[in-house]
Amino acid sequence: MNYEPNLSANLKMELVLSLRRAGVTDTDVIATMESVPREIFVPEAFRDRSYEDITLPIGHHQTLSQPGVVGLMTEALELDDRKKVLEVGTGSGYQTAILAPLCRRVYTIERHEPLLREAEIRFEELRVRNVTTKVGDGTLGWGAQAPFERIIVTAAAADVPPILADQLSIGGIMVVPIGLSDDFQTILKVVKTDHGLETEELRDVRFVPLIPGVSTGT
Ligand code: SAH
Repeated sequence: MNYEPNLSANLKMELVLSLRRAGVTDTDVIATMESVPREIFVPEAFRDRSYEDITLPIGHHQTLSQPGVVGLMTEALELDDRKKVLEVGTGSGYQTAILAPLCRRVYTIERHEPLLREAEIRFEELRVRNVTTKVGDGTLGWGAQAPFERIIVTAAAADVPPILADQLSIGGIMVVPIGLSDDFQTILKVVKTDHGLETEELRDVRFVPLIPGVSTGT
């Protein structure tokens, strides 16, 4: 699947520079990020800043990560078109739209229903077909679809969520920001082996927290 290329040369350059600064080198990840129009995932007022290497608000007190962080987390997942991916924290759907062309199918869970409904409209607009969505508590994973070869969590957890580790296949990779301090968290790359979980720290970031349960607010 490919999106229509619609970034101006300057904006594309800004994006590629952010990815380079973050240490992203995978050419498929870079090409996919160049092809996904980031501006449609952010509120009108921030559209002219969509390609800066900054975190942007997406409503409901949630945020869209800077492009460098999205690129780094995507690259760390080592995707290919046979991989079934679970994403926790759909948010605006931007990260989902980057994952979708790089894997077989994305199952994505969001606890704020209004955010998920807006993301679904964007997937329609972009003709993203291999995404299955659900309103729910992502800390519980998606048992009916488990195991997953890859899991990405885009909200910070206190520790590697154990149910998600259970739903990861052997040889599978999970990328998750860990730490509940307001200052920063660390993105962990977790590989599940026969002997347990092997973890590697990728970099420090700031994420909104992972919150158990489904939101009752709007
Ligand atoms: N990746 C998103 C941004 C994520 S912001 C994007 O590209 O836009 C983090 C998201 O995780 C928020 O939308 C928040 O509502 C959601 N979230 C937090 N805790 C969750 C949980 N337990 N289950 C599902 N979603 C959760």
